[in-house]
Amino acid sequence: LPPSPQHQVVLFASPGAGHLIPLVELARRLVVDHGLAVTVVTLTGMSNPATDAAVLSSLPASAATAVLPAVSLDDLPPDIGFGTLMFELVRRSLHHLRALMEGLSGSPVTALVCDFFGTAALPVAAELGVQGYVFFPNSFALISIMRHIVELHGDAAAGEYRDLPDPLPLPGGPALRHADLPDGFRDRTDPVYAYLVEEARRYGRADGFLVNSFEELEIAMAETFKRDAEDGAFPPVYPVGPFVRSSTGEKADESAFLEWLDHQPKDSVVYVSFGTGGALSVEQTAELAAGLEASGHRFLWIVRMPSLDGNPCALGTVPGDKDDPLAWLPEGFLERTSGRGLAVAAWAPQVRVLSHPATAAFVSHCGWNSTLESVAAGVPMVAWPLYAEQKTNATILTEVIGVALRPAAAREEIAAAVRELVVGEKGSAVRRRARELREAAARAWSPEGSSRRALGEVAGKWKVALVSGNGRIA
Ligand code: UDP
Repeated sequence: LPPSPQHQVVLFASPGAGHLIPLVELARRLVVDHGLAVTVVTLTGMSNPATDAAVLSSLPASAATAVLPAVSLDDLPPDIGFGTLMFELVRRSLHHLRALMEGLSGSPVTALVCDFFGTAALPVAAELGVQGYVFFPNSFALISIMRHIVELHGDAAAGEYRDLPDPLPLPGGPALRHADLPDGFRDRTDPVYAYLVEEARRYGRADGFLVNSFEELEIAMAETFKRDAEDGAFPPVYPVGPFVRSSTGEKADESAFLEWLDHQPKDSVVYVSFGTGGALSVEQTAELAAGLEASGHRFLWIVRMPSLDGNPCALGTVPGDKDDPLAWLPEGFLERTSGRGLAVAAWAPQVRVLSHPATAAFVSHCGWNSTLESVAAGVPMVAWPLYAEQKTNATILTEVIGVALRPAAAREEIAAAVRELVVGEKGSAVRRRARELREAAARAWSPEGSSRRALGEVAGKWKVALVSGNGRIA
């Protein structure tokens, strides 16, 4: 029998599969590679319990899970926005988290890891005398934007992001057009703005950050953060990605997708998906369909219900039993593309689809998990960002990293971008870059790779923490 772990880490996930997936992958590696005991804590409300359970099922058997009791959000205005709701749900659940941590049996807890929406839990870690880390499920660039918002907020004369030069140069990063800033950062009157400032202010209290990126993906940014940590200007940020899970947990549906792909030629299929919450309008759906049709290429399109109210974020909305996303596709589209296109309204085994030899390109909303999965599989992207920080990600992918094209959401442009990425001359540089990054992503997690070493360093800190007696490093 392996020795029982001496140290336990609590990982506190904010709602949504997009947040849980990489945190679970982190937990898995802490158990398997570093012999730590882990408890993954999820919240009640705002995420689909069945999807959460499927994601959690990829944890090793020894990992524990816990669900915090429901808290009421009924007093909040209905139009408050998804981000604000998440921040509030976390805040109102903190006493449950604390009680849970105090009651945990087994190995003593040495660290609490929260994610982007969960930094309100950092003071809980401090109160309990354990290290507080932030797992940042996104890019270095987004941490940089978060740091910047605090400076701006503290300097009334500087105004806010929209008063700054456009585009706005980020230290060690891209020049970001205001239109491509994440939602909530453009306008102080947005309810989520105050929450973002408060979150970002807490960053200085973290013992460290783990970021789901890798050195070679954001070289200049990684260097900037390294210098800032050495100067004591910001906590150390350890690039530990890319975390790409090996399985989706939902086995039953997978074989049909993969069998279809098995019958397609190598590098021929365009995979189309907008993540767990992305919703196109009816017009965008029609443009995309026409673009895919006009491209003449094969495609595998994960179709979701369109947004009828113009909100591109459908997180938290549960489709009705009678909803049929395929019914919203243009008249005759399925018949005309039959044989070369597959449109399905189901949860796709995305990681396997992206790494399938038939897959040539990915029309993506640029969610960070999807981005890393595409990068790790060497698949170039057509960027179609919708909400949250997806436009920022799209900018990084096209203008800094060079693995995506970003067409206007109009049929001719979409068809042209798809053709370029699959067979075109201009697209060949993007395809080459995608292949290079696939190698770089693999190197990051090779035995001596940068991300593997970085996670080992952090795990080492968590293991010595108890030696000093109070759970914190002196
Ligand atoms: N995903 C999947 N099948 C689907 C839709 C999504 O496996 O049909 C996974 C995808 O592989 C990724 C995650 O769900 O790991 C979505 O995260 P991302 O950050 O890309 O976007 P979000 O859903 O948070 O907007």
